[in-house]
Amino acid sequence: MSVGYLIEDATVLTMDSTTGASPVTRSIRVRDGEIVDISGALERLDGDTVLSGRDRLVVPGYVNAHTHSWEGLFRARLDNLPLEHWMLLSYPVLGLAPLSPDLIRLRSQLVAIESLRNGVTTLVDDVLEIPGQTEDQLAAVFEAYRDIGIRANISGHVMDRPFVDHFPFLADALEPDLRRELDALAVLGGDEYLAYARAAAERYRDYADGRLRFMLGPSAPQRCTPEMLVGIDDIAKDHDLEFHIHVLETRTQAVTAGEFYGKTMVEYLHALGVLGERVTMAHGIWVTDSDVAVLADTGTSVSHNPISNLKLGSGIAPWRKYLDSGVNLGIGTDGMSSSDTARMSEAVKAAALLHKVTGPDYRQWPTAQEVLTAGTLGGARSARLGDTVGSIEVGKRADLVFYDMNSLAFTPRNKPELHLVYSENGSSIETVMVDGRIVLQDGHLTSIDERAVLDELQARGPELRQWQDQLETLNRALLPAFDRQYTAAMNRGVAVDRYSGRGECWLN
Ligand SMILES: [Zn+2]
Repeated sequence: MSVGYLIEDATVLTMDSTTGASPVTRSIRVRDGEIVDISGALERLDGDTVLSGRDRLVVPGYVNAHTHSWEGLFRARLDNLPLEHWMLLSYPVLGLAPLSPDLIRLRSQLVAIESLRNGVTTLVDDVLEIPGQTEDQLAAVFEAYRDIGIRANISGHVMDRPFVDHFPFLADALEPDLRRELDALAVLGGDEYLAYARAAAERYRDYADGRLRFMLGPSAPQRCTPEMLVGIDDIAKDHDLEFHIHVLETRTQAVTAGEFYGKTMVEYLHALGVLGERVTMAHGIWVTDSDVAVLADTGTSVSHNPISNLKLGSGIAPWRKYLDSGVNLGIGTDGMSSSDTARMSEAVKAAALLHKVTGPDYRQWPTAQEVLTAGTLGGARSARLGDTVGSIEVGKRADLVFYDMNSLAFTPRNKPELHLVYSENGSSIETVMVDGRIVLQDGHLTSIDERAVLDELQARGPELRQWQDQLETLNRALLPAFDRQYTAAMNRGVAVDRYSGRGECWLN
């Protein structure tokens, strides 16, 4: 039976190339999950379930262009640590045991619930399981997102270089006994992962009506062998899947590129031949001007994660330079430990605000149109979903969020797009539709018992905290060595300064 909706007379931000983030009054017809008609007025047809758009703002759902559901269990644990130190405690290396698929299901549900409640209809979830992902663990994520009804790209994050070799100065900074412990850690075989990834790409083709797809998640250039990066690129091309990689998040990584490759990370990836329109670089902060040109030329996307970058003191991505060069930008929350949130509204607002303090030329500051585009269509493009979602257009899938404009955040009512960027926090959301299916209605999730998920996680809280405390104690032993290598990296020069944001739009 055909399932159809007619949304009548809504205030709409289409985010398409004609009206973008300018509000227009539209009626929208949805059939079998697809937007089939948009007009100033549409007549009611048989099969239409009518949804009133009066006093409603209807927008495409946010695409969270970078997150890690692993961190769902680690939020609000850590503060005031740079990325490398933080990662040691949020993704420990010593004392690991795999999480059960059951806990992974709960964790995925938590991330999806917070996402849908905030108007996020697509997740790019770079699933970093430690000490490594099994088929059952990956299946738990796919099944959780399938059942709750969200759209997602889901990776098997991978590193295949020994841990000590991820950093230029760590080996010399370590005490011998810790060095021995790290050297004894198992390292994944490259061929083993490539076979796993190829099988996953096949297994999850058209999964949940194509709503969920596998994604290739090589961790970062310095954490993977070149053979791994090239092998992954082949799979991404064969299956037209997103290739998602962390690049130049920190100053330490900019130094690492010089030490390891004698060139920038972007130049290194370009020389390997793996940049291109399937590739999204998460962060992309410590890039040079010529790196930006390479990313534009190759059609590589960048996921901008302003809250995570602020919390970990990583630096400020050159937002205006990217846009001026034609680089496609998405926005991500990053994981719930580095940003403590899965709420894209906060990341979009942070993106709109952060770059205003990087220089006095106010004409260069991000506009609502720009940040909302990055939060929707830009993210969709980076996820290889630009023809599927990200804007409200005929032929696209109906991933729609309805905001009640009688709410506190829209009172008194001025410019809807500015309310959305600066005032709204998810509390006005009344209805969320993904793939034409209503997954949140009148403030309630329709596909899951939200209370039961939270209750179960709360009940398991003491056990989880004990596990995390033990891991933290064990891994804190490495922090003095991390301090020494951090200092060594900070004493090296780099070509750009992304702490101040200067050079990005400063007037001199
Ligand atoms: Zn990340």
